[in-house]
Amino acid sequence: NISTDRPVIRPLDEAAINRIAAGEVVERPASAVKELVENAIDAGATRIAVEFADGGKTLIRVTDDGCGMTGADLPLAIARHATSKIDGTDLLNIHSFGFRGEALASLGSVGRLVLISRAQGHDAAQITVAGGRIGDVRPAALSRGTVVELRDLFYATPARLKFLRTDRAEAQAIAEVIRRLAMAEPHIGFTLTETTNGEARVIFRADPQSGDFFDALHGRLTGILGADFTSNALRIDIPRDGMHLTGYAALPTYSRGSGAQQFVFVNGRPVLDKLLLGALRVAYFDFLSRDRHPAAVLNLACDSERVDVNVHPAKAEVRFREPDAARSLIITGLRTALSGAGHRASTTVAG
Ligand code: ADP
Ligand code: MG
Repeated sequence: NISTDRPVIRPLDEAAINRIAAGEVVERPASAVKELVENAIDAGATRIAVEFADGGKTLIRVTDDGCGMTGADLPLAIARHATSKIDGTDLLNIHSFGFRGEALASLGSVGRLVLISRAQGHDAAQITVAGGRIGDVRPAALSRGTVVELRDLFYATPARLKFLRTDRAEAQAIAEVIRRLAMAEPHIGFTLTETTNGEARVIFRADPQSGDFFDALHGRLTGILGADFTSNALRIDIPRDGMHLTGYAALPTYSRGSGAQQFVFVNGRPVLDKLLLGALRVAYFDFLSRDRHPAAVLNLACDSERVDVNVHPAKAEVRFREPDAARSLIITGLRTALSGAGHRASTTVAG
């Protein structure tokens, strides 16, 4: 009987589906931190506190003072493909960090997740989901905002746990995520606290900055990259062809031995984009010797219809509808700014 050898097609169960999604969204503790902090930013938080222990493997806790959720919201927040951030099918019109509605469902399927939240005019409530098993909504105590606690990440998927690097390397990756988001959101205050052997230590702190976007960003970059960077950086503010390049780009004299001080954002979203980083290198090409690297923090803003952020679950890559326009804005915009600065400098010397 041949039919006994025929493979049987079955739908995957919900827990398996969530774990597969988690594999894409949550690669390591730093990706969980990124998702949770982005949620806090989307919730309109003004202060975000992140705590973690053992490289984020045993504990990640994100506390925010954002809009919070009601008890009725909580089961939806942890349900897969449920989001408050996108209306209908308009995937081309995205103004928040999140939109896939996958992060909390994924985290709850591979770790032990507790959500405690309070929306204005409502009582605080909490829900627990561990290894995909969802508990009841219960009353909780919280004055405002949301606390998301994620313990034992990947305990439900031991194979993934084995791929994690040392606690130190994972801690560094977490700090890097916070640094980038802090540069993207200078008006928000951030603290990052690491607990080792029961002892808590603040390893990164960025106080909320006031003023307009440039003032706030200047203050934030002084804190993160140092006054040496900001006092040697040109303010970049170049609108062109419906796009807008903003940020600070260091003078060639403040070049670095590596690309460690290059940060690019698209519509305020930290990205690791080869196209944009390549354009940055080209812009400085005539100003720097081969072994030196530019330092810059740049945001490229454009109509959300001209850039697709839905290329990768972790949203680290983007795709432009007109990649050449994005590239050329960075190259010619920065070149013009840099040669103008050179001109001014030599005029000063001559005068
Ligand atoms: P997404 O961010 O793509 O919508 P998530 O799984 O990260 O998906 O979150 C699901 C939903 O839970 C969000 O759309 C939001 O309504 C709610 N939520 C998550 N985190 C917070 C938070 N810190 N404050 C308020 N609401 C939150
Ligand atoms: Mg999210």
